[in-house]
Amino acid sequence: MKSKDYLGSTLKRIEGKGYKAYKDIQGSYDLKDFELYIDYVQGDPFASPTRLRVRVPQKRAGFPQRLFTSRVRRTALEDYLTREFAGAIHRVAKRSRGAGKSGLIFIDPCSQEILERTSMVVTPDYVEARISMGLPAQGRRVLAREAADMFFKELPLLVREALLYETLDSEKIRAHGEGNEDQEYLRGELQKRGLVSFVGNDSILPRKSGASDLPMNREEAVPFTSPRDLEVEVDLPNAGKVKGMGIPSGITLIVGGGYHGKSTLLRAVERGVYNHVPGDGRERVVTLEDAVKIRAEDGRKVEKVNISPFINNLPFHKGTVGFSTEEASGSTSQAANIMESLEMGSRLLLLDEDTSATNFMIRDVRMQSLVSRDKEPITPFIDKVKHLYNDLGVSTILVLGGSGDYFDAADRVIMMDEYCALEVTSRAKEIAHQYQTKRKQEGGEEFGDIIHRIPLKKGLDPTRKGKTKISARGLSSLQFGRQEVDLSMVEQLVDVSQTRAIGDIMYFSAHLIDGKRTLNEVIEITLDQIEKQGLDLLSPFRGQHPGEYALPRKYEIAAAFNRLRTFHTL
Ligand code: ADP
Ligand code: MG
Repeated sequence: MKSKDYLGSTLKRIEGKGYKAYKDIQGSYDLKDFELYIDYVQGDPFASPTRLRVRVPQKRAGFPQRLFTSRVRRTALEDYLTREFAGAIHRVAKRSRGAGKSGLIFIDPCSQEILERTSMVVTPDYVEARISMGLPAQGRRVLAREAADMFFKELPLLVREALLYETLDSEKIRAHGEGNEDQEYLRGELQKRGLVSFVGNDSILPRKSGASDLPMNREEAVPFTSPRDLEVEVDLPNAGKVKGMGIPSGITLIVGGGYHGKSTLLRAVERGVYNHVPGDGRERVVTLEDAVKIRAEDGRKVEKVNISPFINNLPFHKGTVGFSTEEASGSTSQAANIMESLEMGSRLLLLDEDTSATNFMIRDVRMQSLVSRDKEPITPFIDKVKHLYNDLGVSTILVLGGSGDYFDAADRVIMMDEYCALEVTSRAKEIAHQYQTKRKQEGGEEFGDIIHRIPLKKGLDPTRKGKTKISARGLSSLQFGRQEVDLSMVEQLVDVSQTRAIGDIMYFSAHLIDGKRTLNEVIEITLDQIEKQGLDLLSPFRGQHPGEYALPRKYEIAAAFNRLRTFHTL
């Protein structure tokens, strides 16, 4: 490890030289209060910025062990420190110091969810921030004095403001960790109580706007209150007793007039697979971790999926046991989305009429009379939803304002009325009794088979023009070699660093694809290795700045495989 003076004199030496001279500062330095690892130096001021790690020994950082003993607490602390670091950059960094990215300091930004990510590492020995920096340039000349300012003034300030326990708000750190722990506990409690989701009283479900995931202002929002019949109480390890709506397993309908808050409730339930930061409004909304939002997605590719539980007798005898298409329709895409989720082991499906194909959801008695069964390839979801639960133990939560045909199948019905949740099951059942639909059951005796597919290496080519090219182009688009994977309809993908991780997981897991393992096994083994060794595992740069990753769920990883147009299975 080199000294601070060494870095200083190297910078002096390269002042005014061509930008490439910056390569000389690569290496590790002892800057007294922290260690600086300059792992990768950018080639020019416009290229992707220089990657460095700032490591503060615990002797100085001083974080008490109890804050990071368990995985869930450590994740929360790392998340908290990442947010603090981002805030400190905002306050401290001067930013523009010349051409291109000159003067920028960057740490992976966090969303409202608390995710395991590579941006910060806390161990018993040190705290380490993995950041990027645009080394200053005038035109393409080194601005070493500005760089020295960043290394010797800004970085120490950032360390002081964001990486030392004594300068941080210990109350907030504690709340962050305990909140994360409570949500994890609550999720475990669901399983034990036969629930699939919990929506805490006083939660703020609506968001600021379609473009913002921040909570709606408290003055405007109607806080959530559980209907009495569904209210449960949970004793959390940190927050103590909390009450809220427990949605039991089985078939749950969310009904109500348009604009009364149905989709907002479902979206919160959907996001409840993740933990949220304090103040988000959804930090008491927790859902089974294997819940999958199902929607129609016409135009997507489908690779040999058994959609026969839902679709049969397509025109021209196109088979549906191993159904493939380059462009699925609304109903076939929705069927494929369900079957793929079941293949990965989901036990809770979430559907919203707003994003479903009508002909996939319902087929009423009049249509049954006009279009005979043998002319209709689709077995609507209404005829399979009970089988899903009875045969496979898979629950469904369904938002539906347009058809009462589901009253017969529902185990319970929740009505949203001016943003208030009411329990209306017995009323719905009475109505179902009073107005019999007379529609014929078309779902057969059982749900049907879930066929596990075996992925092939062929087509998983991460190269473009001879080079490995995997990158996230925003949250919902993944570049994989020459292919662009469209993830815009994968609604539970929440962070661009998850997208980035998914791309590298697809690449990393290729060595597990042997023509025998199923897709589910390949992904599970990979996630298991990540759990043991951390997300750094995905990076080709061992022991260095790994890049920005956040942990994705297996459903979103599978979704990317399934949407890669060159993906093939046995
Ligand atoms: P629906 O699906 O029943 O048509 P939405 O869930 O889309 O209704 O909600 C309609 C509008 O009401 C949205 O703009 C949403 O932000 C707002 N909204 C939803 N829930 C609440 C609430 N609890 N308090 C205030 N506004 C809400
Ligand atoms: Mg809606």
